[in-house]
Amino acid sequence: MALVDRFGRVHDYLRISVTDRCNLRCVYCMPETGMQFLDESQLMTDDEIVQVVQAGAELGIRKLRITGGEPTVRRGLPKLVERLSAIPGIEDIALTTNGMTLRDQAQELKDAGISRLNLSLDSMKAEPFQAITRFGEFARVWEGLEEAVRVGFSPIKLNVVLVGGFNEGEIVDFLRLTERYPIMVRFIEYMPIGQDAKAWRKRYVPLTDVFTQAEAAGIELAPGTEVRGNGPAQYYRIPGAPGQVGFIHPVSDHFCATCNRLRLTADGRLKPCLYWADEVAVRDCVGQPEQLREMFFRALAIKPEKHEMSLAGEVLDSGLVPTLRTMSQIGG
Ligand code: SAM
Ligand code: SF4
Repeated sequence: MALVDRFGRVHDYLRISVTDRCNLRCVYCMPETGMQFLDESQLMTDDEIVQVVQAGAELGIRKLRITGGEPTVRRGLPKLVERLSAIPGIEDIALTTNGMTLRDQAQELKDAGISRLNLSLDSMKAEPFQAITRFGEFARVWEGLEEAVRVGFSPIKLNVVLVGGFNEGEIVDFLRLTERYPIMVRFIEYMPIGQDAKAWRKRYVPLTDVFTQAEAAGIELAPGTEVRGNGPAQYYRIPGAPGQVGFIHPVSDHFCATCNRLRLTADGRLKPCLYWADEVAVRDCVGQPEQLREMFFRALAIKPEKHEMSLAGEVLDSGLVPTLRTMSQIGG
């Protein structure tokens, strides 16, 4: 039986947060101090994750994304990836990483079965990069990116969250990067998740700003081509450039009608929607394949039609409650 929800959306994609911990503290994702992390016993084990994915794969999950927190800080990640890639039905495993350890881990992760890579890189200058990530080292991440290109990840997508006062001045630099490298630069709208809504509103940058700045710089953005695993992004290309530019605008223009994804949190809960608090506990069902499968249907049964990010901080009629989790606890 396929994973179809009340709105006819077919789900074939599971995002797995393998840890809530991270070696950075990006301003849009986590507070600088005071985060409470899961202890080892609360974290899904490799065996448990594999069983949940097996249940999902029997129901039509075909694509996985490994995320976190920072997934590469989980001990033994390549071994887990290897096991996930051996599950019948799983066709594609992608990784989202901040790139801090990629220089040393890229080859091992590729060999384990990661085919596609999203690298979060919000600035190409050392100082703003550090201001956004609080502990990040731009040079190290750039070396990680070069290593990822060398070992042959394809496609490589750069995730650029635009945050007012931090990096909106680098939009043109990021556009120009696609003229030099065969990578996808994806601009992402800052989402009000795990954030004070008022503070978020002050720093939110609509992606229409990218078009305005491109035009002011005399850069033409022509329609791009479909990219493997392209998800909700819309692609454009500077004519003649090897790379492309993607736009992910969950706030100004959501793409919920085509949502095909479920999320598994590091503490073993299935989240049907990134934004709302509703979740289903799956960890308790490990060891009982039929019940695990049933949990996927329960998650779909409570999946709402859409999020309401643009109304963050306002009182809603729907009775739905936004999640209290930070993005690092969900996985993006
Ligand atoms: N640590 C990894 C990384 O940063 O790539 C994976 C986890 S991170 C939570 C996944 C993605 O979510 C990253 O691309 C990050 O930039 C994005 N993200 C985090 N908080 C966000 C927010 N408030 N709005 C938009 N994107 C956000
Ligand atoms: Fe860590 Fe990724 Fe969140 Fe940055 S966005 S704090 S790298 S989990």
